[in-house]
Amino acid sequence: MEPLLSVRSLWVYYSSNPALRGVDIEVPEGGVVAIIGPNGSGKSTLLKSIIGYVKPSRGRVFFRGRDITGLDPSKALRMGIVYVPERRRVFPELSVEKNLLIGSYIRGVDKRRSRELLDLVYSLFPNLRVKRSKSAAVLSGGEAQMVAVGRGIMSDPEVLLLDEPSLGLAPRIVASIYDAVSRLNRSSGVTIVVADQMLRALEISSHGYVISNGVVIEHGDREYLMRHKTIVDVYFKYS
Ligand code: ADP
Ligand code: MG
Repeated sequence: MEPLLSVRSLWVYYSSNPALRGVDIEVPEGGVVAIIGPNGSGKSTLLKSIIGYVKPSRGRVFFRGRDITGLDPSKALRMGIVYVPERRRVFPELSVEKNLLIGSYIRGVDKRRSRELLDLVYSLFPNLRVKRSKSAAVLSGGEAQMVAVGRGIMSDPEVLLLDEPSLGLAPRIVASIYDAVSRLNRSSGVTIVVADQMLRALEISSHGYVISNGVVIEHGDREYLMRHKTIVDVYFKYS
């Protein structure tokens, strides 16, 4: 079956430095795919080039068989390609719920669907429901990350691109966020691509890619990668 999303021989340069050097990935519809690699390996660049924040100099990005290489980020969003950036940003002057609703607003999700999605977010992250009318300024780092993921869900994604949701969070919090992401995939069938330095991302994935210095050095299904030495090296060195 044709993948929902695929990246073919992608090259990205920042001035004259290559950040991605011929990357290929395939994301099946309804799947969870992990992009694992140390800091600076090109994970964010890969996700950003899928949504068009970064323009590749060579290679192609396909979504539902359509060439979307270098598309405008707002068009990618309209198609349902939703990016949750690695630095979780909340608007501290707004309530938790308003922060979440922004996700629906930016994609023009209708009111009724937005209510459904809000219920879904609150069922995945019950403490956000408890704090729904509180100012987002009072949230912990973990809760702010939940809001960031929740806001992505509120855009009603076809594919959700999560950029290092574990960054700076305690292992217990990381586990609960990944748990929710996994439940989201199983209950709603949302396709997920998650980039992280932590093996936890691979644990919820069907398959993954190990990236180092802008090159995919290993890929395969979860069991294969979990056993593989390369990924163990990455994990022990960088987490
Ligand atoms: P990761 O997300 O895996 O940490 P990045 O995609 O952020 O990796 O970075 C890949 C490489 O590109 C790194 O060497 C980084 O320093 C470089 N890089 C990232 N963003 C920029 C930028 N805006 N300008 C110049 N170099 C960048
Ligand atoms: Mg990054």
